[in-house]
Amino acid sequence: MSDEKLRSIDDRPADEIAKTLDEYPSDLHNDPDDMPSAAADGAALAAWRVAKSLLRLRDQINAKFPGRKKDSDGTIGDTAHCPGTSDHCPNISDGGVGVVTGMDITHDPAHGLVSGDVAEKLRLGRDPRIKYIISNSRIANFQALDGHPAFAWRPYNSQNPHEKHFHISVKPGKTGPGGYDTTTDWNI
Ligand SMILES: [Zn+2]
Repeated sequence: MSDEKLRSIDDRPADEIAKTLDEYPSDLHNDPDDMPSAAADGAALAAWRVAKSLLRLRDQINAKFPGRKKDSDGTIGDTAHCPGTSDHCPNISDGGVGVVTGMDITHDPAHGLVSGDVAEKLRLGRDPRIKYIISNSRIANFQALDGHPAFAWRPYNSQNPHEKHFHISVKPGKTGPGGYDTTTDWNI
């Protein structure tokens, strides 16, 4: 199914690079389960890969929307942004391999993929793997924040409104129902 191969940290294929990096919502660091692993403080990782749950989601989206454009798709951040705190940076260390836990999926209504609609379906599905979703100047987090209930949309005021793609981050734990490498089907 998914391409799960390891890449050298210097090997960031153009079609995998996140085109416009999200601002990392710093308030999410308040969650003790959300502490970045040791790699986040700049430790050099030799290799990286994408969380298997995100590869599974991308496979499902590719199957549901054949021929979709991938202009604004991306997983890993470029060298100008990573190392950094974004989930597009391979900050989670899995045995010394950096795991990317954020992914962007391109808005392509001509092929039926309305990014806001897919984001909304994911939000309503409340999948335990979701950390947060950003779409059309809104962000929804798995936990209650800023007086908003869990999974409620909140305003997301960034220079990148996320109209050309939606962003999804998965949680930093590896296994179990909410694990970043858990490959059960997503609700899309
Ligand atoms: Zn993103």
